[in-house]
Amino acid sequence: MELIGPDHPRYDELRRPALPQYGHVRPAVIAHCSTTDDVVEALSYARAHDLPVAARSGGHCFAGHSSTTGLLLELSGLSGLSVVDRKATIGAGARLADVYRGLHEFGLTIPAGCGPTVGIAGLTLGGGLGLLGRKYGLTCDRLVAATVVLADGRVVECDEEQEPELFWALRGAGGGQFGVLTSLVFAAVPSPAATRFTLTWPRARAADVIDAWQTWAPDAPDDITASLAVTADEARIFGATLTAEDFGPLGRLGGELCVRSGLSWPALKRSFSDEDVPDDRIIYSKSEFFAAPLPRDTIAQLLAAGCELSFTPMGGAYNHVPPDATAFAHRTERFLLEHAAPDHDAVRRSWSIAHPHASGHLYPNFPDPDLTDPAAYHGANHPRLLAVKNTYDPHWFFRQPLGAAR
Ligand SMILES: Cc1cc2nc3c(=O)[nH]c(=O)nc-3n(C[C@H](O)[C@H](O)[C@H](O)COP(=O)(O)OP(=O)(O)OC[C@H]3O[C@@H](n4cnc5c(N)ncnc54)[C@H](O)[C@@H]3O)c2cc1C
Repeated sequence: MELIGPDHPRYDELRRPALPQYGHVRPAVIAHCSTTDDVVEALSYARAHDLPVAARSGGHCFAGHSSTTGLLLELSGLSGLSVVDRKATIGAGARLADVYRGLHEFGLTIPAGCGPTVGIAGLTLGGGLGLLGRKYGLTCDRLVAATVVLADGRVVECDEEQEPELFWALRGAGGGQFGVLTSLVFAAVPSPAATRFTLTWPRARAADVIDAWQTWAPDAPDDITASLAVTADEARIFGATLTAEDFGPLGRLGGELCVRSGLSWPALKRSFSDEDVPDDRIIYSKSEFFAAPLPRDTIAQLLAAGCELSFTPMGGAYNHVPPDATAFAHRTERFLLEHAAPDHDAVRRSWSIAHPHASGHLYPNFPDPDLTDPAAYHGANHPRLLAVKNTYDPHWFFRQPLGAAR
């Protein structure tokens, strides 16, 4: 383990998270870890110096939980990938683009998100939505084992048989709560050839598009994942299909269709990340799950509020799993709606317009500093998560403050 202080030449590069709003947070020390033993040693150092700890894999936490003024557990050195019998063992510091590339060499992939630099560990711990999710479920639904360093420095292997309650809690409650994962084992799936599509309309058609999308996309065949983004200029439906190219009622709305067929899975994922141009602008966001369509007048009010709106379809394999089978409680939702803008108050206003129609549940991977009710993040799974917390981290060494299993 390498301990990196503020005078070290790599300190600034390593301390910066993906989201610029947390770029000002300066850790007392960064523990750059490359092995499970490094993590054990770093936690021991933190305990000895009474430093709060934040684990960081990809650094994309919306609530800044992977930034700290204490000890930053920087896991990018733990990024190995190996495959035996379709079981993929992936280091907790690996990023999604590397995961897709590495697995594709074995003809495999896992259902996971689009952001190429999102960390596999944070994504999995909070669930994991992506373009294969409606077919194969959440990223955490494919997790079959993990290596975890506990608060007291013990290293445990967990799966359905060993430490089953911890294994249950790691699948979808959100990162940073029960221990530090150093590697994750997934039941991988075949890496498909797929079709990428976009359907675009001028923003003036956005109300019709939202209305049609919300009654179709969550019930579409599981092979199709169609997300919807409404920006200042346009309404755009985009996604991937493994088979059918039938866009239901959307096909009748006359948008401009662009299709690229026969893409390898990493190429399809890359084609979406090419559009994801990073910059230093601070964008605020809030989101919620919906179990029923939004009424027409609410759609009109949302469009008038002017935030960017992103709709992600649920349904499909996400909802084939019972809500208590893993810690991820949100198995009856139809879609996730995210509101985003540089103005935080505008985002709050937009969220308030839709909120009366929401299910009141939040995606643990989209934590919201305004919303701290654990039941919103964990539903009826909250008491069981609390019991796991008190078993594996009874002194609350990992002080995750928000949506935590308190
Ligand atoms: C640009 C962007 C694109 C995104 N795209 C998607 C998407 O397509 N699908 C989707 O579902 N979500 C997406 N998200 C949300 C993403 O899933 C969450 O932000 C997720 O928590 C990021 O994980 P990370 O490892 O990158 O982040 P980090 O900030 O490193 O970690 C997130 C949380 O997990 C904890 N943690 C990290 N590593 C470990 C570990 N090894 N052991 C224990 N705890 C750990 C951290 O302390 C923190 O609390 C996106 C977010 C952004 C900013």
